[in-house]
Amino acid sequence: MNPPASLRDASCADDYDPNSMPVERARALIRQFLSPVTAIERLHVRAALGRVLADSIVSPLAVPGHDNSAMDGWAVRFADLVPDGATTLRRVGESFAGRPFAGEVQPGEAVRIFTGAVMPRGADTVVMQERAQAIEAGVTITAGAVTKAGQNRRLAGEDLATGQVVFERGQPLRPAELGMLASIGIAEVGVYRRLRVAFFSTGDELRSVGSTLREGEIYDSNRYTLFGMLQRLGCEALDMGVVPDVPARLEAAFTTAAANADVVITSGGVSVGEADYVKMLLDKLGEVVFWKLAMKPGRPLAYGRVGGAHFFGLPGNPVAVMVTFYEFVRDALRILQGERDVQPVPRFTARLAAPVRKLPGRVEFQRGILAPTADGYEVRPTGEQGSAILSSMSRANCFIVLPVASGDLRPGAMVEVQLLEGLI
Ligand code: AMP
Ligand code: MG
Repeated sequence: MNPPASLRDASCADDYDPNSMPVERARALIRQFLSPVTAIERLHVRAALGRVLADSIVSPLAVPGHDNSAMDGWAVRFADLVPDGATTLRRVGESFAGRPFAGEVQPGEAVRIFTGAVMPRGADTVVMQERAQAIEAGVTITAGAVTKAGQNRRLAGEDLATGQVVFERGQPLRPAELGMLASIGIAEVGVYRRLRVAFFSTGDELRSVGSTLREGEIYDSNRYTLFGMLQRLGCEALDMGVVPDVPARLEAAFTTAAANADVVITSGGVSVGEADYVKMLLDKLGEVVFWKLAMKPGRPLAYGRVGGAHFFGLPGNPVAVMVTFYEFVRDALRILQGERDVQPVPRFTARLAAPVRKLPGRVEFQRGILAPTADGYEVRPTGEQGSAILSSMSRANCFIVLPVASGDLRPGAMVEVQLLEGLI
């Protein structure tokens, strides 16, 4: 990957306060520095799930390849059908999916046909079997069974035409795309290499699962939520463990991380009182564009560069880690992975079913539970909104996004929500 250009040059010209960057401004600023990976690898379509296409794909064939039946029924010539009465036709054969009728349908004839089977030559319309009665040596078609020529016939190329651009470079590969690639006979595709993301937690109080806690110590949970979020984005997650608040240890960790990864993510150590170490180190090893955002949770959030890698210094509090990851890091990683047209997760409005407490001054991402009602959706906060209360993330199915100026809200107010999960 190209190392990010010098951040300072580009950012100095900007008129902003790195100590309380508005959320939208921070997003735009980060985007300026994101140059996607360029290395490509070729993978079997199945192994490409979750990756981003590095080639445009042109269809080598039409889908479907032949006109075929959309129904089980009878292939007929529309012109044979009596406009306002029943029609009796002679059965001359069958067309099964994968086993077409070899002949040509002549006037007065019909072919028994099944869904997906090739339309026999001569026939232009399919009568669904529920509107027809098989009789000895033929079929009687109910009056008005079809209203126009071509009914229940799927046309060759109606999904994809030969030579059509099916996907552009930068297309993320989801199950639908795997199926589309298979439908045009493509077994292997070029995708961008995985993004390498090194991450570690900082804090003298942190222990990893599997060790015993001494007084005042806590288990490190951030490395697990981060691992999960990175894994779902298809990144190569390099877990560097817990690093104590010791300058030499932090420096070694930053140096190793930057040498081995495209992106370095840390948690903790950027809040007041602790930030000094990290600030000092980044002055030496890289540069920082901003330290603080006008948002809650997540006020301490650093973005910059360490060596040739992008750096996201997330807060220590477990909820703040997840909120800042979803609101900033996620989209940045998707862009770096080569995805085009990265859009933030859509927001929509829902009615508050319980009061919300908020002070004006910062955007807030409260954790909410969205539920259907008779006429739409209602949302309520999960309860206590402290940024250390990770259970709020687990109970929530959405963020309630409250704008900077908003104060307390009563039930009935319309608020913006952003879903935490979708189809995967
Ligand atoms: P800091 O930003 O380092 O001051 O951390 C803020 C709060 O988050 C403190 O209560 C930390 O103990 C807590 N914290 C920091 N890192 C982690 C972590 N990896 N897992 C759980 N809690 C953490
Ligand atoms: Mg700390």
